[in-house]
Amino acid sequence: MGPGPSSVNPRVLKAMTLPILGHLDPQFFKVMDEVCEMLREVLHTQNHITVPLSSTGTGAMEAACANMLERGDKMIVCRNGFFGDRLGDIAERCGAETFILDFVWGEPVDLQVLSDALDQYGPVKAVGVVHAETSTGVLTPMPDIVELAHRHGALVIADAVTSLGGHDVRMDDWDIDVCYSATQKCLGAPPGLAPISFGPRAMEVINNRPSKVQSFYFNLKGLESYWNQTRAYHHTSPISMTYALRESLRMMMEEGIDNRIRRHARVAGALRAGLEAMGIDLMAPEGYRINPLTTALIPEGIEDTAVRGRLLSDFDIEIGGGLGQVRGKAWRIGLMGESAKESNVFALLSALEQILP
Ligand code: PLP
Repeated sequence: MGPGPSSVNPRVLKAMTLPILGHLDPQFFKVMDEVCEMLREVLHTQNHITVPLSSTGTGAMEAACANMLERGDKMIVCRNGFFGDRLGDIAERCGAETFILDFVWGEPVDLQVLSDALDQYGPVKAVGVVHAETSTGVLTPMPDIVELAHRHGALVIADAVTSLGGHDVRMDDWDIDVCYSATQKCLGAPPGLAPISFGPRAMEVINNRPSKVQSFYFNLKGLESYWNQTRAYHHTSPISMTYALRESLRMMMEEGIDNRIRRHARVAGALRAGLEAMGIDLMAPEGYRINPLTTALIPEGIEDTAVRGRLLSDFDIEIGGGLGQVRGKAWRIGLMGESAKESNVFALLSALEQILP
């Protein structure tokens, strides 16, 4: 019940024990096609380039920025938590002139501030935003941000690492240009792959940029020729992880994407109600709370590590501590993918009842 990796269903773990196929084996191409097709369904997109990168979520952040940005491009990053901060750092390392818009940790992005910044710093190549901030538990509504950015001619790079599979992520309807995630949260597979999808505007940038992408590994043109029907070797695919992702996506299709999102909402609601009934305040404001991860403010006088230590040693329950600014001030309780179940909520609440004075 930490902020990820979440628990993995035995069916997914078993899939990882399938015999290793070559990454250029026609049988493996079928596995790849199946994975891409299901990823398109989860992201609600028709984007041709919708693939799992061989990396964790941070690699996808690098891939998004490295492919979209050239030296001297301007990028605005909305920072209302730890992962917004990381996105800004990566954009800067990719050579972009980066403008960080700071919002209070625990609050969503303020559209007026973004609108003013787009006017002030324009023309801006891209706006980066974290859909579900895992450090604060805050959801940033995407459609308004995309509409605003596009009105100013900027692309949108959206981090859906914690939201995909636990919240609605509608890449085409919302018109997001680049969207990425990771396997170890609500998708229910181990850490190791990072789904990413590029929309038509993003592909236009990639196809027309005069400078080389500074990363070989994440250069989309190279990756594209492996993932499209050319099937040219780019790097050795993580075969077992691809089996795992296929199995976890199959399980999602069996459950139904909407049912799965409803399950995340239901269990998160139960957890919040239980915490509040115990007098524990929540960090994220109502209406902007993410379901896969709840941030609870540690009550006055309670020592963070002592409680988390007892949860782990006496009850076998892992929850996360605060990251960055909220270290020692908040607990981060994950209900993601396979871990998003009522029995976990009851187990944690009853353990806290016993531990807290
Ligand atoms: N973005 C968000 C919102 C995250 O929660 C995380 C990890 O927790 C990342 C990016 C980075 O992903 P990873 O740790 O898989 O590299």
